[in-house]
Amino acid sequence: SVSGGEDEDAPTGVTYEDIGGLDEELDLVREMIELPLSEPEVFAHLGVDPPKGVLLHGPPGTGKTLIAKAVATEVDATFITISGPEIMSKFKGESEEKLREKFEEARQNAPAIVFFDEIDSIAGKRDDGGDVENRVVGQLLSLMDGLAARGDVIVIGATNRVDSLDPALRRGGRFDREIEIGVPNEVGRREILEVHTRRMPLAEDVDVDRLAARTHGFVGADLESLAKEAAMTALRRARRGGETISFGELEVTREDFEAAMASVEPSAMREYVAEA
Ligand code: ATP
Repeated sequence: SVSGGEDEDAPTGVTYEDIGGLDEELDLVREMIELPLSEPEVFAHLGVDPPKGVLLHGPPGTGKTLIAKAVATEVDATFITISGPEIMSKFKGESEEKLREKFEEARQNAPAIVFFDEIDSIAGKRDDGGDVENRVVGQLLSLMDGLAARGDVIVIGATNRVDSLDPALRRGGRFDREIEIGVPNEVGRREILEVHTRRMPLAEDVDVDRLAARTHGFVGADLESLAKEAAMTALRRARRGGETISFGELEVTREDFEAAMASVEPSAMREYVAEA
């Protein structure tokens, strides 16, 4: 049986409030997904097929998964994750079977969002792939073509490597829209930092604006690490202090963030160093 697969379909609890920046991107996604899932009749009324899917592309840790989960929460849709690498590790024939099962599960639990993480790993260019890869791409295409015109099942694909996707997947009728989820700018970083510090007891000397200005190149996942690291630094400081600081009074200070800045690097930088 598949390990842990079922839990992934449980409600995620992620909402739009958990997303920093990405206002325009989110609007584009919502426009494509909320209406078909909540009021599919509108499309029949207009005489057009509802959208079938959206492709989100951009660097790791920028919020693609977050967006997909948040939309599912907001429209009260079942959220079904398919991890590309996990599907591809199945024995021959099992990958296609697994795909069919997931789409069937979605249909039965509609409205539903089928989220493909790292879709490039299952739907790479067919010329480049072997036999298994080709059959899996073919299966995915036919499943997407078969999505009922009802519009109550929507596919969201996420990839860091949009150029390596099979072109057939990018033609009309499959993903209706491709949306780039890029590295956040200063304003975006500020909003993301706010999300990740909003439940934190921040000391008065913490300047989130300034942190946003100093974290060029940090994506959402990096900023989350930064906030967590600052909190852990505060905790260590308090424990060193022994009895003198009670946890109830503990605040995360500017100095804690300084220490975190010294240990958390933007992921783009890590990749760069790794490749050099
Ligand atoms: P990958 O390509 O690695 O799957 P992704 O783009 O899907 O990356 P997410 O899984 O959405 O990235 O982000 C990882 C974590 O980083 C999130 O759980 C969240 O805590 C944080 N994060 C990323 N982007 C944002 C954002 N825009 N706002 C708030 N938090 C974010």
